This record gives sequence, C-alpha cells and structure tokens, in this order.
Amino acid sequence: MAELNFDLVVLGGGSGGYSAAIRAAELGMSVALIEKNKLGGTCLHVGCIPTKAMLHAAEVADNAREAHECGINATFTGVDMDRVNAFREDIITKKFKGLGGLIKARGITVIEGEGRLVSPNSVAVGADTIVGKNIVLATGSYSKSLPGLEIGGRVITSEHALQMNYVPNKVAILGGGVIGVEFASVWKSFGSEVVIIEGLPHLVPNEEESISKALERAYRKRGIDYKLGVRFQGVTQNDSGVVVTLESGETVEADLLLVAVGRGPATAGCGFEEVGITMDRGYVITNERLATNIPGVYAVGDIVPGLQLAHRGYQQGFFVAEEIAGLNPVVISDTNIPKVTYCEPEIASVGLTESKAAEQYGADKIAAYDYNLAGNGKSEILGTAGSVKVVRLVDGPVVGVHMIGARVGELIGEAQLVVNWEAHPEDIAPLLHAHPTQNESLGEAFLYLAGKPLHTL
Ligand code: FAD
Repeated sequence: MAELNFDLVVLGGGSGGYSAAIRAAELGMSVALIEKNKLGGTCLHVGCIPTKAMLHAAEVADNAREAHECGINATFTGVDMDRVNAFREDIITKKFKGLGGLIKARGITVIEGEGRLVSPNSVAVGADTIVGKNIVLATGSYSKSLPGLEIGGRVITSEHALQMNYVPNKVAILGGGVIGVEFASVWKSFGSEVVIIEGLPHLVPNEEESISKALERAYRKRGIDYKLGVRFQGVTQNDSGVVVTLESGETVEADLLLVAVGRGPATAGCGFEEVGITMDRGYVITNERLATNIPGVYAVGDIVPGLQLAHRGYQQGFFVAEEIAGLNPVVISDTNIPKVTYCEPEIASVGLTESKAAEQYGADKIAAYDYNLAGNGKSEILGTAGSVKVVRLVDGPVVGVHMIGARVGELIGEAQLVVNWEAHPEDIAPLLHAHPTQNESLGEAFLYLAGKPLHTL
C-alpha cells in the first residue's frame, strides 16, 4: 500500500486523458496517467483507427470491382477477413507503440489498473492512493443500447463488429448515425446485404438535411437499404439469425443486429458522484473552462456533454493542462468543431447548417451556395457525385461548410480554418486552390459567394 504524489493525476488514457498528460508533462508537471485497459482508449483500439482501416479495405474492394471503368483489368474475388483484421491490428500496434514511446519520453508515470476517485485530490488504484494537486477525469464512453435490448450473441456493438472473422450475409443496423452508416458502408463493400433502421426521418440526422438526403440517394444507389422514421420494438435470435420487429409490426431478418444507437459516458463506479461532483445522467458537468464544481478537478472527452470526437478530446486535454499551468488558454468553441463521417461517400462539416444559421441570424441575413461536384475535374476523375455547401452571413464571415463526396474529409482542414477564423468569402476568393483538386470546389463556392463566379453560373 503506497501513497504516490504528483502535480497532475489523469484518470483514463484515451484521447482526452493522454493529451492532457502529454501537455502537462511538457509544461513541467509531474504526471500520473491511470489506465485500466490500454493507452490510446476507444479511438486507437476500437474506434477511429480500426474503423478507418476497415473503411480503407472496403474502398480497395470497391476499387477492384470498379477498376474496369478506367481500363484496368482486376477482379474482386472476395474478402479474407483474417487478413483484413491483421492489416487493421498491425496499424493499431504501430500507433500503440508510438504512443507508448511519446508517453515514456515525456517522463509520464503510467499506472496500470482501475482507478476510483476517493477524494477531491486522490484516486485509489488497488491498494495504492495516487494523490494529485489537480485531477483530470477522462474515463470515456461505452456503446449504449436501448431499454430492454440486451447485447449478446447475434446482437452486437461496434466493438464486436470489429472482431468478426467472417463477412455476414445480411446485417441489420439499429441507428443511422455516424457509427451505423460507417459500418453499413464497410459491410456493403465487403459483400453483405445491409439494412439500417433509424427512428428519425433521415440518416445522419445531425447533418444538414441536404447532406442526409444525398447520402440516402447514394446508399440507395449502392444497394444499402434503410428504413427511416421507424420505431424499434424488439429482437429475437436463434442459432441462424435475428428477427427485428418494428412498432409498425414489420419484421427484418438478418444474420446479426448491430446496435449503433450512440455512446454513453463511462462514469459508473468511478466514484465521481460519491466525491460530490455534479453529474447529469452519467455525464460530468463542467464550466466552459472544463472545471467541475470541485476545485482542482477537471473533465475532458466523451464524459463531458457535447460531440464525442477524438479531436475534441485532444483539444480539451491540451486546454486543461494549459489551464492548470495558468496559461489562460482560449475557450474551445463546441459549435465549430470539424466532423467527418467516413462512409462512402464521405461527409464532412463544420459550423452552422443553413437552417440553424437562418434561425440564429434571420433568413435575410445569410447566404448559401451549394456547389455541385459534377463541376469539379478531380471529382469527375474519382467518379464521385456530391456537393460542397458554404453558408455565410451577408457581408460577413463564413459560418458553416457542409460537404458530401468521395474523400471530402480531406477538405475539412481548410473549411474549419475559414469558419474558425471567421474569414469572409472575399478574403479567401483571391487565394489559390491547386488544380485539379477537390479543394477547388471550396474555392468555387467562396468565389461565388464573393460575387465572382468562375466555373459556375
Ligand atoms: P476513451 O478513448 O474512451 O478513453 C477512456 C479511457 O479511460 C479508456 O482507455 C478506458 O480504459 C479508461 N478508463 C475508463 N475508466 C477507467 C478507470 N476507472 N480507471 C482507469 N482507466 C479507466 N472520433 C473521431 O474523432 N473520429 C472518428 O473517426 C471516430 N470514429 C469512431 C468509431 C467508433 C466505432 C467509435 C466507438 C468511436 C469513434 N470516435 C471517433 C469517437 C472517439 O473514439 C472518442 O470520442 C474518443 O475516443 C474519446 O476519448 P476519451 O479520452 O474521452 O475516451
């Protein structure tokens, strides 16, 4: 039984926790990073990186199928899931080793084990007490289910879906949000029949409606089935498959049901409430400077209400370390966080949708332009359909960018700079966009909104 003392104790070694630890160590603090599983958390092991590796494999499968369209002889003969899994795990292993190296090089003390907050400045791990002048809570999230819907057998979450060593014949996916549409995309490309069940009227319902509709058209074209505005009632399973029943009485049969209805905060049993931290439905409540109601205790990442994204976690981790160091960092705006959904076609957005901007500023105070990728040379070469929509205030800055099309996630860098720097289309219109790139589509939209259309009417 030992008591160990640090300037900063971080509970949870995922995106939010490890970035807080790294930045704090850079700023000269002694840091303990407590992790019960593997450093890197959800993003590295069962989230961003593994799913994007699968999506890459899926894109390669599609490329093989479509190779003949540009004169290349290739045949798609199937998917070897053992090798796809090995490809994915190899990437994770390399990134995991790299992260371990960074943590070691910063002199951070990694404490392996399950931590429990036992006082405003200490965490118990087994028989040891880890004391910190400040504490950062970063315990992350878990895959939620619906009341009465038990996970197990053929009813699986994204974690299970990543471990499968075969391609299912038919999958039902409950939830048409980011995780649901990404897995739908992967499985369809791997050769499965896919049906998405979504309670709201659109897929990716948090996106601009025109983007949701474009995805629905693209999925219809790809043969991905979906049922929108329907209510899940229950599921039964046997040795060969599942039968999902909807409230309408309609049934859907499949080999598996993937439950992708969102993620909840992983705070149960962590001691937060007992120590007096203000919580709401399992989330840790903080002020805009990510401080909880207990002085010296901060929270970052998926346990803080808002978008559950790795880059938000990194940014919050950085912020908190600098806050503790007294650097007075600029508050992070939750409105302008870039988002990418990596399905095929990809979706990328930042800032306000046209309707939210109209609500906030008045319909007559905004202008929007939706550039069709059919006009873009590189999009034509890639064989993608889609659009890039820019929303601006009249005589004011760009407040939102919403894109769909192959690889548009790579365009979000420019879009998020423009929105976060509150640039006007007139500021960007004179800047060059290399030709031929899909980036030019953003340039065309800015030119249009600056009153100087080039390849548009
Ligand atoms: P986590 O990464 O969940 O880390 C929390 C860590 O705390 C874990 O390692 C856990 O083991 C540890 N822990 C928990 N409790 C304790 C305890 N009591 N003691 C010790 N350790 C503890 N985001 C993106 O930005 N882009 C994407 O493409 C993307 N894709 C995703 C795909 C999927 C399938 C999923 C599930 C998520 C995806 N995300 C993506 C979301 C992203 O993974 C999360 O937003 C991010 O990992 C949150 O970071 P975090 O630090 O808050 O939590």
